[in-house]
Amino acid sequence: MPNAPATVPCQYRTGKTLGSGTYAIVKEAVHIKTGKYYACKVINKKLMEGREYMVRNEIAVLKRISSGHRNIVTLHDYFETTNNLYLCFDLCTGGELFDRICAKGNYHEPDAAELVRTIMNAVKYIHDSGIVHRDLKPENLLFRTPAEDADIMIADFGLSRVMEEERFHLLTEICGTPGYMAPEIFKKTGHGKPVDIWAMGVITYFLLAGYTPFDRENQQLEMQAIIAGDYKFEPEEYWVHVSETAKAFITECLTIDPTSRPTAAEALKHPWLSDVKPHFVPDP
Ligand code: ADP
Ligand code: MG
Repeated sequence: MPNAPATVPCQYRTGKTLGSGTYAIVKEAVHIKTGKYYACKVINKKLMEGREYMVRNEIAVLKRISSGHRNIVTLHDYFETTNNLYLCFDLCTGGELFDRICAKGNYHEPDAAELVRTIMNAVKYIHDSGIVHRDLKPENLLFRTPAEDADIMIADFGLSRVMEEERFHLLTEICGTPGYMAPEIFKKTGHGKPVDIWAMGVITYFLLAGYTPFDRENQQLEMQAIIAGDYKFEPEEYWVHVSETAKAFITECLTIDPTSRPTAAEALKHPWLSDVKPHFVPDP
């Protein structure tokens, strides 16, 4: 990966759109020389005017952690043209976790536990590297291939921040995706790594039930429900087959006080995750 953005724009030919988010369109791109396929995040400079630092930050964070963990998307290259910034990632062909949950209705508990354990391990790596992601949600969790047991990858470090100090109250701006945002973000009292654990609680709830815990008629009511920690494991028909251990795990992740919420390392030790049987790997 070069240290400074290259100015040569046409080493890639872009193809179909893979997805879009808040600030970017992501397109399939083929590297003309090698014929290798990548996912190219195209960010319009005009649209980002005044917020270019967000892209610089995303690149800085990715340079620091991408390629260091098998479940984090790898930034392969970046460059800019007059109008756009381009971030080239290894292509994940398996789509978003969001679409898989929608297609299945919900995940079977052992499969959900294994996914959550894998993502939590990557979250621990991110946190140990002094970074808070701040936008964990099923739209930002991608599968490397279409296979059922494909690796899951954490993507979209656009809102992430470097946070060296082990202090909870450092960041105060309101950001994220409402349904996954922790109460302390709305309270503007300061937030840090615990917001990612809260989001993991919401994701786990979504995986097991097929709907999110704080879904309300409008964003105001949703925010009030989050601040009050007002959610239930209901309607019952969606939860009868879910173990008490799984519910206890969600309850711990959705602790209102961020200082009492488990860290990623503590969450990994929860019985719901630590009792997951690893895949059988035969001896070489
Ligand atoms: P934004 O910051 O605008 O939300 P993202 O980085 O989340 O941008 O990318 C938007 C969408 O593009 C993702 O939700 C996903 O569907 C798709 N996408 C992003 N990165 C990749 C990738 N490496 N491989 C395949 N699809 C991707
Ligand atoms: Mg995104």
